Amino acid sequence: MILPKSNRLTPEQLAEVTAIVTEFGCKIQPIVGAVRSIYAIVGDERDELMINRLEGLDYVDRIDRIQSPFKLMDRRSDLASHRITLGGVTLGEELFVIAGQCTIDPKNPNYFYETAAAVKEAGAQVLRGGVWKPRTNPYTFQGDAKSLEILMEAHRRTGLPVDAEVMDEEQLDLALSAGVQMLQVGARNALNYSLLRAIGRAVAERDTIVLLKRSLHMGALNEFISAAEYIAAFGNPNVILCPRGTAPALDGYRNHPDESITPLLKEKTWAPVVVDPSHSVGKAAYVPACALAAVAYGADGLCIEAHVSPSQGIGDDPKQALMPDALATTIAQAKQLWAIRRGVKAARAD
Ligand code: PEP
Ligand code: MN
Repeated sequence: MILPKSNRLTPEQLAEVTAIVTEFGCKIQPIVGAVRSIYAIVGDERDELMINRLEGLDYVDRIDRIQSPFKLMDRRSDLASHRITLGGVTLGEELFVIAGQCTIDPKNPNYFYETAAAVKEAGAQVLRGGVWKPRTNPYTFQGDAKSLEILMEAHRRTGLPVDAEVMDEEQLDLALSAGVQMLQVGARNALNYSLLRAIGRAVAERDTIVLLKRSLHMGALNEFISAAEYIAAFGNPNVILCPRGTAPALDGYRNHPDESITPLLKEKTWAPVVVDPSHSVGKAAYVPACALAAVAYGADGLCIEAHVSPSQGIGDDPKQALMPDALATTIAQAKQLWAIRRGVKAARAD
């Protein structure tokens, strides 16, 4: 829908916008009001170039898009009934929890094995462990492919499916060949479309699940959902949205907590939302409250960093990992809140 700055377009302006939309296979249908006229774009109005060209006209105030920019992930898509199941939980039916270390220390694998057992005991369904790490400073530890063996050994020992971040195609191939069930796209790569494309292609014929973190710099929610759509478009719709805090940080927190976008995402997309409170607030003491807030906002699950001995951890673990007892309490309380939320829903439906 084209909204002109003036009350209506002049015949020359109408001819110009008609010429532009015609190039993209669309037509203009004027909607004439007593005072103002607006101009509907009839046809597929999702072409960014067409919208940019129209928005660039100095007599156009704005373009309101009626069509969703994402077909597959839209709430109204046929895929809306698609369900993602991992670790015995179908997302949306029960609280889903991913937990584990930020980073696996290849020199101290026992910490990870102990963390893995503790995470299972605490009630998580998926074990996370950073093999390769994006870092703020490239001269700090960036991970080690040896940690992939440790991750898969922990999977064998606990039976928990595992989640690891991949940052390039080589890591993607290694992770998939090793049998990693959940691939994480980190916040720094959420807008790296060539990586999203490579992941989409690589998982097209598999049942691998992709956990897509929200970029620190993502603006409109459509940008986040469209990135998920880009992965799913290759054929595997198992994509989960993971808000994890954005920039600039709220003074005192690591990022600006964004669990409150959950209901907004859910209005637009059927994709499950799993919130990461650990990177959002960035300090273990604040993580349980953020996790519970996320569940209250309607999150389908949580992704929490945990470590048996955070002070011995590497990466983010000394700052933000929960100890096993705190993890167990957080999961138990989050499950209670989940039940309350469902009860509230049921009561409303009555
Ligand atoms: C992580 O999960 O350890 C991580 C690096 O997350 P993010 O990409 O959200 O910063
Ligand atoms: Mn981390």
